[in-house]
Amino acid sequence: MRQIAILGATGSIGCSTLDVLARYPDVYRVAALTGHSNLERLLEQCRKFRPDYVVVTGDHNLQNFTDQLRKCRLPCELLHGAEGLDYVAALPQVDTVVAAIVGAAGLSSSLEAVRAGKRVLLANKESLVMSGELFMAEARENGALLLPVDSEHNAIFQCLPGDGKCGVRPEGVRRLLLTASGGPFLNTPLDQLESVTPDQACAHPNWSMGRKISVDSATMMNKGLELIEACHLFSMPPQEIDIVIHPQSVIHSMVEYFDGSVLSQMGNPDMRTPIAHALSWPNRVESGVDWLDLVKTGSLEFHAPDLDRFPALRIAADAAAAGGAMPVALNAANEIAVEAFLQQKIGFLDIARVADKVLAKTEQWTPSSLDQVLSVDQQSRIYANEIAEQLCKH
Ligand code: NAD
Ligand code: MG
Repeated sequence: MRQIAILGATGSIGCSTLDVLARYPDVYRVAALTGHSNLERLLEQCRKFRPDYVVVTGDHNLQNFTDQLRKCRLPCELLHGAEGLDYVAALPQVDTVVAAIVGAAGLSSSLEAVRAGKRVLLANKESLVMSGELFMAEARENGALLLPVDSEHNAIFQCLPGDGKCGVRPEGVRRLLLTASGGPFLNTPLDQLESVTPDQACAHPNWSMGRKISVDSATMMNKGLELIEACHLFSMPPQEIDIVIHPQSVIHSMVEYFDGSVLSQMGNPDMRTPIAHALSWPNRVESGVDWLDLVKTGSLEFHAPDLDRFPALRIAADAAAAGGAMPVALNAANEIAVEAFLQQKIGFLDIARVADKVLAKTEQWTPSSLDQVLSVDQQSRIYANEIAEQLCKH
């Protein structure tokens, strides 16, 4: 039996992972689950999958949760906080870790999983954006098998030759093409963008996801973060990675080879496909996803992204080119700004403004340890909060 730990089990990726796992009870066993806010869902998952460990990270009174575990006679050991996450990410009996926490909160445990040499199904792109070099070096040194779950990177991985090693520049490749749906505001008149609401921003036309990544998709910061993620995963410079708007979200990304061949991976937009691929790689299993009906899809469109509409793309591309502290600052600024937008403290267009201003204040240097990365992250959050507060007043 393969033993799995799911970090961020209660989220969108976590639930999709459990949906795939539940189809193969003889192959996979859930050894650990973690959750931050939705304890009801976490309890329900514990009842169904009976993990050895359950980790709760948010600020909760755990009396009721503990009582319920006992009442249902669940044999799980309950752990708390970030230490609990790090602990289950490196459990000796676990061979596969699904890193599906959102944001910088997922960095430490993703890194622990890599350091423990696990098969790591990486959804938490923020950890690569923040600490790509460090992360990939730890994966290499500790023999971790990194399998991208982010649909674009999973698509690229599937279109690459070889034995599936992330972190090595693939041979014969000229360019990577990251596809992007363009999100809910692809055709919204520009003068309306200032006043769009969090619910409008979270109503993605093709994908159902957590709120933070949904807002990132609406600003297209998500594609910017994915550009940085791709640079690290596939060891390619940002100038050799293009972003293409493809509103149907059927082609999940492409690889262009020197001989002129362009390979793509297609499928319905449902994260269970990349999750099932990464879980069972190098084999294939059914994921529960509907079969793609290309006739029904009809046509596939491609456009160049409009940088006036999506300034986050330019900001992220600049941060990618600069490297070092800049992507760390970008990620931190974006997390603070998205949260402020979701709480209706700042407007939608302010998200990119906060990122821009935080980067302008950030000194260019290269953090070389996790502590240094975290100190850039902390400082950038302070700047971002100050800037967001000033924007609030206007
Ligand atoms: P989500 O908000 O639905 O779930 C996030 C999970 O992280 C939850 O289990 C939550 O309890 C946990 N969490 C939140 N804050 C935490 C904290 N401070 N400490 C510990 N745990 C915490 O998010 P999601 O959409 O599932 O996305 C998860 C990650 O996967 C993100 O990095 C996202 O960019 C990436 N991703 C998601 C999708 C998707 O379709 N949802 C696609 C590609 C990549
Ligand atoms: Mg993606």
